[in-house]
Amino acid sequence: MLPSFRYIRPRTVAEAVKALAEPGACAHAGGTDLVGCLRDGVFGAKAVVSLSDLAELRGISAAKDGGLRIGALATLAEIARHAGIVKGWPALAQGAGAAASPQLRNQGTLGGNLCQRPRCWYFRGDFDCARKGGEICFAVEGENTYHAIFGGSGCFIVHPSDTASPLVALQATARIAGPKGSRSVPVEKLFVLPAVDHTRETVLGPGEVITEILLPPPLAGGRGLYRKVRARGAWDFALGGVALALSTKDGKVVSARVVLSGVAPTPWRVPEVEKLLVGQMLDARLAADAAELAVKGAEPMSGNDYKIPLVKGAVEEALLALV
Ligand SMILES: Cc1cc2nc3c(=O)[nH]c(=O)nc-3n(C[C@H](O)[C@H](O)[C@H](O)COP(=O)(O)OP(=O)(O)OC[C@H]3O[C@@H](n4cnc5c(N)ncnc54)[C@H](O)[C@@H]3O)c2cc1C
Repeated sequence: MLPSFRYIRPRTVAEAVKALAEPGACAHAGGTDLVGCLRDGVFGAKAVVSLSDLAELRGISAAKDGGLRIGALATLAEIARHAGIVKGWPALAQGAGAAASPQLRNQGTLGGNLCQRPRCWYFRGDFDCARKGGEICFAVEGENTYHAIFGGSGCFIVHPSDTASPLVALQATARIAGPKGSRSVPVEKLFVLPAVDHTRETVLGPGEVITEILLPPPLAGGRGLYRKVRARGAWDFALGGVALALSTKDGKVVSARVVLSGVAPTPWRVPEVEKLLVGQMLDARLAADAAELAVKGAEPMSGNDYKIPLVKGAVEEALLALV
């Protein structure tokens, strides 16, 4: 059952920020994650602040510089089918289209997808785990099939979003409104590793809300994709995946951003792989070498070493698709 809370429907971003700055308030976009969390007691809320009347958070529009502005309330379905995104930023369209189910994509928003809480069964279950302020991460000695092989430290969640890794690969920026005004944060810097703070996933402070995501113009010779591996073809979170944003000229890689999903508490960029790719002909040999390098330093737990060959395969396959 849902607990009781105040429901607030601000008409302006300023009103929303003010309401969200109150202790115990949280934002409500599509509600596909939030409502389940409240119902299951994952966390509580004194006030739920609806973003749905904030026209400034809606829409997808071309920017003057050739980039794109996506309002935080744009749904995953809108993003997945938007002709401009499919053409210019395919990794994002594919990420949005690979998330959840058609019903959830019609309701779930981009802002909510980036700020959704982790899916770890200990965090979501009746456990006083480290992310909820407890002493330990139960996944270390427990069931860790779906947990992190990179970047875990005191907490081993994986980031659940299928749009976050594409946005990091595409060098997107989040615009954030808050009590001190607006600020811009590269999506790459939006997420927090457990070593920094294992009780929160984003850098958003009290009262802060993502208003829009800005994408820079597509690169000349730009190519990209998002490859997600999941246990079944219906809705399922990524066991592992990769977002690629490359630019090539005459078959040679000019620039590369390679970001893994489903393997770390944040989207996981692999700069060594990017370095390896740049300046080389994109061919089967390079794809195999890059895939090998992508899993270097992985630290699997008792039940998730399958993620190493899985990620290797996903990276190799994704690169080969761009040859
Ligand atoms: C069964 C199921 C399967 C799913 N599978 C996948 C999957 O495979 N891949 C995937 O990526 N996702 C998956 N999801 C997650 C789904 O995509 C998210 O629930 C959805 O994108 C969240 O969007 P929302 O608008 O409903 O957010 P809400 O539920 O409204 O909010 C989610 C969280 O984000 C915060 N929030 C929302 N908007 C903002 C904002 N603008 N600024 C700051 N904070 C904000 C809220 O306070 C809340 O904590 C799945 C969800 C379910 C229920």
